[in-house]
Amino acid sequence: MSDTTTKTHSVTVAQRPLVLSWAGVTDVGRRRETNQDAFFAEYPLFIVADGMGGHAGGEIASRSTVTRLEAIVADGTVERGSIEGALALAVGDIADHPETTDEGTGTTLTGVFLEFGDGDPHWVALNIGDSRVYLLRDDRLVQVTTDHSVVQELIASGKISPEEAEGHPYSNVITRAVGASELTAPDYVSLDVRAGDRFVICSDGLTKELTDYGIQHFLRENADPGAAVDAMLAAALENGGRDNVTLVVVQVTDESSSTNEPAAE
Ligand code: CA
Repeated sequence: MSDTTTKTHSVTVAQRPLVLSWAGVTDVGRRRETNQDAFFAEYPLFIVADGMGGHAGGEIASRSTVTRLEAIVADGTVERGSIEGALALAVGDIADHPETTDEGTGTTLTGVFLEFGDGDPHWVALNIGDSRVYLLRDDRLVQVTTDHSVVQELIASGKISPEEAEGHPYSNVITRAVGASELTAPDYVSLDVRAGDRFVICSDGLTKELTDYGIQHFLRENADPGAAVDAMLAAALENGGRDNVTLVVVQVTDESSSTNEPAAE
């Protein structure tokens, strides 16, 4: 059923051969005229950006940010410093673009990358805004990133419950972005690399239409990342597709115990 290609890359962690496999998809959805989301998924960086701003501003912001980050993957220099340097360049690109006069022009950015220190590589999740990284580990789905949004601040201060957050009038208002008028470093969360782990990196167009339970369900039903992203996109569109929908699934498989890898390698 899947028409989304799954890519793979071998990596050794603690002398164990592991295989990373991933797939990503973006769709304009059912209600919006343009797609302001962008994604990039190539070893060792997997990211989603959700642009905002009038006219073409949102598209320019997310595209500029992803393009600057693609360049550091091409250079083979993915680490926190180079990411922050790329974001500074993206902010300049957004500010200098003739079609981005809007004060509100900017983009979210979230994702994961493999960080290579002196020892074994580990994952780093990064986030600016309200796009999200989820991790399915030991059959439990957790949200790794913390949203930078007005609603998240209201929840954290106990003013509203997570249930009240849904459909809240400020549910689209984010408190941090990569944009013409601001430059902030991402929040980072470090995680060990474990066989069996599956990440979902997504824009809010997915989480408006699918609950955590739904995301977990489609991961369980689809061992292949390409099939998983296609199934989640189809469900999000079926549930309304009110916003642009973008998601990337990245998973870690133990090479020696791999049973669900197709013979495509
Ligand atoms: Ca969105």
